[in-house]
Amino acid sequence: MATIQWYPGHMNKAKNQLEDKLDLIDVIIEVLDARLPVSSRNPMIGNLVKKKPHIVVLNKCDLADPVQTKLWTHYFQKEGSFVISMDAQHNTNMSALIKLIKLAAKEKTEKLIAKGASNPIIRVALAGIPNCGKSTIINRLVGRNAAIVGDRPGVTKGQSWLKTKTNIQILDTPGILWPKFEDQTVGYKLAACGAIKEDIFHADDVALFVIKFLKAHYLNDLVKFSRLSKERIEELTDPDILLEMTQNYGMRDDYDRFAIFMLQRLRKGKIGRITFDLR
Ligand code: GDP
Repeated sequence: MATIQWYPGHMNKAKNQLEDKLDLIDVIIEVLDARLPVSSRNPMIGNLVKKKPHIVVLNKCDLADPVQTKLWTHYFQKEGSFVISMDAQHNTNMSALIKLIKLAAKEKTEKLIAKGASNPIIRVALAGIPNCGKSTIINRLVGRNAAIVGDRPGVTKGQSWLKTKTNIQILDTPGILWPKFEDQTVGYKLAACGAIKEDIFHADDVALFVIKFLKAHYLNDLVKFSRLSKERIEELTDPDILLEMTQNYGMRDDYDRFAIFMLQRLRKGKIGRITFDLR
């Protein structure tokens, strides 16, 4: 795999912007991909979230293995975070997220109420790697209340707060963070889930990684999708599995085309609900 410039300047800037605004933020929502609770986690987020109430959202849980999502939820709870799993695309669990934001900000709001405030504003920022669903969650929270508050042209460009129908306001630009990228396996996992650009990888390499992973952890899903028997899968090498699958799908020996097709099916959840970081 080629060496990749994983941390370009603008990534650093996004992180710094979030750091700069930390004083204004009451709650940080760290959005993770439920299929990749470790690999989609930014290695530096720890420093940011230590300073603020912090919610972990395991998003895209519709695509992840529900047993694993439960285990990861317990894991993050034990770490001391507020945790919620959701499928933002289909708008599940949004009212539970709102409740959790209020709970996370309780200390601050109670203080303000004691001082006489009636309904103190809670300011929230989202952060996460590209494509984990930050914008989708923001849109769900904001809904039709897309009015921007505190927008002063020229000064607050990209730093406005979006109103919701509750007392929660959301920083309109989520913090874009970069995933951990400590080894090739993490890279393949991110690529498999569509979290990093395709052109960095060869689809067939990623497909081979997926075949190996499914063989080890989700064999039944592989059997169903591959149209091969368990026994056949066990006697073939991974490249031969890829080739036979290609043939089973009528693509002759065009395994490259099949690999792309397979990854598309995987990302849509059509192979099964698969978690790549196993607890
Ligand atoms: P961002 O880059 O973090 O802002 O990610 P987006 O909000 O743009 O979402 C990236 C893609 O993931 C979009 O195609 C969304 O429709 C999709 N998406 C977001 N949340 C979910 C989810 O919970 N489940 C599924 N299946 N797809 C989601």
